[in-house]
Amino acid sequence: MKKTNLFDFTYPELEKTLEEINLPRFRAKQLFDWLYKKLVFDFDLMSNFSSEQKRIFAKKFRLYIPTIEHVAHSSSDSSYKFLLKTDDGKQIESVLIKEKTSSRERSTICVSCMVGCPLGCKFCATGSEIGFVRKLSCAEIVGQVLAILKHAQENNYSQKITNIVFMGMGEPFLNIEQVQKSIALFTSTNGISLSPSKIAVSTAGIGPGIAQFINETGIRLAVSLHFPTNELRSEYMPINKQFPLDKLFAELKKINLKKRDHILIEYLMLDGINDTLTHVKQLQKLVHGLKVKINLIPYNPIKKFRAKTSSPKSIENFVAYLKGKGIFTSVRHSKGIEVEGGCGQLALKNHG
Ligand code: SAH
Ligand code: SF4
Repeated sequence: MKKTNLFDFTYPELEKTLEEINLPRFRAKQLFDWLYKKLVFDFDLMSNFSSEQKRIFAKKFRLYIPTIEHVAHSSSDSSYKFLLKTDDGKQIESVLIKEKTSSRERSTICVSCMVGCPLGCKFCATGSEIGFVRKLSCAEIVGQVLAILKHAQENNYSQKITNIVFMGMGEPFLNIEQVQKSIALFTSTNGISLSPSKIAVSTAGIGPGIAQFINETGIRLAVSLHFPTNELRSEYMPINKQFPLDKLFAELKKINLKKRDHILIEYLMLDGINDTLTHVKQLQKLVHGLKVKINLIPYNPIKKFRAKTSSPKSIENFVAYLKGKGIFTSVRHSKGIEVEGGCGQLALKNHG
C-alpha cells in the first residue's frame, strides 16, 4: 500500500479516509490537534491513540515536512530566512518577518509554492537565475509554516503567526490546486486557523481564474504589476504577452471586494525604466476605478539584471503624485535583504 503524506489531507479528506478504515471522525480532530496545534509529527508520541491505532496510522500515512537546513537571522529588521530541503533534495526558502508598531504586532510567514518559477521575469532571481524546477505539494507548502512554527517552539520564540503570504518562489496561479489545498489547511479551525483575510497570494498576473479564486477563498490579492504599459511590461515580464494589461484589469474588475478591502498593486521602482512622471501618470490611469493600494518596491539588485533601484527623490515624487490622486501608497522596506531573503533573492545563493 502506498503511503500518503498526512499533510496532504484537508480536514474533510482525512475524516473521510478514517471512516473508510472504520475509525470514527473524531480521530481526525485528534490527529489534526497533534499536527497543527501541538506540532507533534511522530505517531509514537500521540498519547491518545492505542498502539494498534498508531500502527495503522504509521502503515497508512507518511508524516513528512521539509527539513530546515539553515536559519539566518537579520537583527536589524527581525526577519529570519529559512533554507529548507524537500525529501528529493530540492532547496526552498521561506521567510519569517516580525513587525512591531505601537498598536500591533505582526508575524508573517512568506512561503514558496514552487522550486524556481517558469515565468522568467527579468528582474527576479527565482525566474531569471534559477528557472523552473518543479511545483511544491500541499504538504511542502504547509510544511514550511509547520517547520518554522516548530523551530520557534524549540527555540523559545513566539509561535504566534498572524499572516501568511505567497510571495516566495513560484507563481501561485500555476500551482493553484496545491495552493488552494494549503489555504484550506491554513484557514481551517482544526488547522492553522487563520482568517482568509490574513492570507495573501501575489501573482504576476496570469488568468483567467484569478477573480473566481479570490471570490471563492476570500483571501487577499497582490498583483505584481511593476510596469504601466504593455510595451514595457512585456519586455520585463514575458507573461504579459500571453495575458496583457487589458485582460488582467478586466479580470481584476471581476473581484468582489468587501467594503474595506482593496487589491494590492506591487510596483518595482527601477531607475529610469518605470519611475518617471509619465509612468506614474500611466499607472494612475490604469488603476483608476479599481480599489487599490499601491506598494512601491525598491529593486533588490540581482546579478543578471543590471538595473538600479530608483532614487529616494523619484520614489518620493511617485508617492506624492499617487497620494495627490487619493490613492493609498506605501513604500516597502525590503525585509531580510541582509540575509538575502529579500524579494527576488530567495534561494539564489544555493542554486546560483
Ligand atoms: N510569482 C509571484 C510571487 C512571488 S515574487 C509574483 O511575481 O507576484 C514576490 C514579489 O517580489 C513580486 O512582486 C516580485 O515581482 C518581487 N520581486 C521579484 N524580484 C525582485 C527584485 N529583484 N527586487 C524586488 N522585488 C522583486
Ligand atoms: Fe516568477 Fe514572480 Fe519571479 Fe516573475 S517575479 S519569475 S512570476 S517568482
